[in-house]
Amino acid sequence: MSVVPVIEADVLRRQDPELAEILLGELARQSTTLQLVAAENFTSPAVLAALGSPLANKYAEGYPGARHHGGCEIVDVAERVAVERAKALFGAEHANVQAHSGSSAVLAAYAALLRPGDTVLALGLPYGGHLTHGSPANFSGRWFDFVGYGVDAETGIVDYAQMRSLARTHRPKAIVCGSIAYPRHIDHALFREVADEVGAYLIADAAHPIGLVAGGAAPNPVPYADIVCATTHKVLRGPRGGMLLCGSELAERVDRAVFPFTQGGAQMHTIAAKAVAFGEAATPAFTAYAHQVVANARVLAAGLAGEGFVVTTGGTDTHLITVDPLPLGVDGRAARGQLTAAGLVLDCCPLPHGDSRGLRLGTAAVTTQGMGEGEMATIAALLAGVLRGRVDTRRARDEVRDLVGGFPPYPG
Ligand SMILES: *Cc1c(COP(=O)(O)O)cnc(C)c1O
Repeated sequence: MSVVPVIEADVLRRQDPELAEILLGELARQSTTLQLVAAENFTSPAVLAALGSPLANKYAEGYPGARHHGGCEIVDVAERVAVERAKALFGAEHANVQAHSGSSAVLAAYAALLRPGDTVLALGLPYGGHLTHGSPANFSGRWFDFVGYGVDAETGIVDYAQMRSLARTHRPKAIVCGSIAYPRHIDHALFREVADEVGAYLIADAAHPIGLVAGGAAPNPVPYADIVCATTHKVLRGPRGGMLLCGSELAERVDRAVFPFTQGGAQMHTIAAKAVAFGEAATPAFTAYAHQVVANARVLAAGLAGEGFVVTTGGTDTHLITVDPLPLGVDGRAARGQLTAAGLVLDCCPLPHGDSRGLRLGTAAVTTQGMGEGEMATIAALLAGVLRGRVDTRRARDEVRDLVGGFPPYPG
């Protein structure tokens, strides 16, 4: 199967060379630099095919069997398949696969459970909370009264005692667990216990680890949380999008919170692509992949520690690593610029003491490419070499190109 069918068919190139050039340029960038952005992955040709399919043409407001548009009988089947696969994959009684993104899924979860002005307890933004966990620049911070718990400044581990005490003081309507930059497993049982103690809903924003959950490489929040929000495009390796999982008793509220409350027509091509990704995630190959992602992250974290980076929490349980590069003589913001110029693409992130000058890396994409522990050691040395000035930018770019050349994300 072709990687990007439209480009390979040459249709786009003939009709719109300007855009064809841009698409091919991005494919070349992804294939010649090292993708260490923890939220990214290489989705499969089958998922790309579903995304580029005529399902993109179909209007389908509502849910299967109850649409506001005619002609939905075939896309209804696609959505039913996606829902059934998601339920089976995560052991959930109900799944909503229409959320356009992770943020839309969180918005819908709040809409299902909260009223404007309600108090919500979530990981504070300076410690790795997502925008949708109370940023003043986001709907969440404007419409709800967020209280932030933190992480221990020394260990980087969620400060569960503080979280419990803030819950007792503020009696939130909902507690949110989940982060953009937390490398360890979350104690869902403890969050559930605190939520029950104060009469709060528990929302698990599992956007990052949900792919590891699918592969059995991280604990499943579904048995503990009232609603689980997730993305489908991070470790899970599906199309860009969101989903919600919950028990039967909240099913109708969640569905109505997505449509018609926060969204219009469902994106049926994306939902079909989600179904394809859920199908892939249910295979033994994906289970092996998820475990390799974690094994790679552990080796990369150890390699970075060996090079002098301060590794938050001392390591990782997941695909995600955060480090302070300061001992190498540069803070996260400067480091990201130098590394990106050298073809090592990653993000800045918050550090446990609450400033945002760390670096965040993930192993989801490089593992999809087929890299293993040996390559992780090479990558750790390259990252340190660039920041310490041992390897100049040009040589680093060449070394990166050689390394990724052996692991093309889309062979052929
Ligand atoms: C990625 C992420 C989101 C948002 O996903 P988008 O698809 O970018 O909207 C929300 N919450 C957490 C914790 C995330 O990591």
